[in-house]
Amino acid sequence: MKEGQNNYNQTVSGENNQVAGRDIIIQTNLEPDDKPSPDNPNLIRCPACHRFGVFRGAELCPYCNYSFLEARRAEQEKAKLKAHQRMSVLSLLAVVVFSIAVTIADKFGVGLLKGLGWAILVVFVLYFAGLWCWAWLNAWLKCR
Ligand SMILES: [Zn+2]
Repeated sequence: MKEGQNNYNQTVSGENNQVAGRDIIIQTNLEPDDKPSPDNPNLIRCPACHRFGVFRGAELCPYCNYSFLEARRAEQEKAKLKAHQRMSVLSLLAVVVFSIAVTIADKFGVGLLKGLGWAILVVFVLYFAGLWCWAWLNAWLKCR
């Protein structure tokens, strides 16, 4: 290349004499009038703009720029949080049941195993009593 020669004069030796970058732009530029085949299993509907023809696994909707990547990340975050909450509730429940079991075993002089059985029964009864109270409270609030 001679000095001073600019980029516009250079010859392009790629396939079809096109620069790779331009090829990519042409391929990703979906015309809104393009009617994608509805029986293509790799095409899905965008949940944001409800337009059909988004590639399964695409990161962005070509019509409205809805971010599937962001949505997937949020979904994963939500699932992780839910699992964490379930673990917290279960471990709290285990601690409560065990404390009641120890108390019962101590107070009534029964073995720890029997105390554990009673503790589970007590927690179940309290749980259903709580559910019943909650339902009753809701009904009462609606009646007012
Ligand atoms: Zn969209």
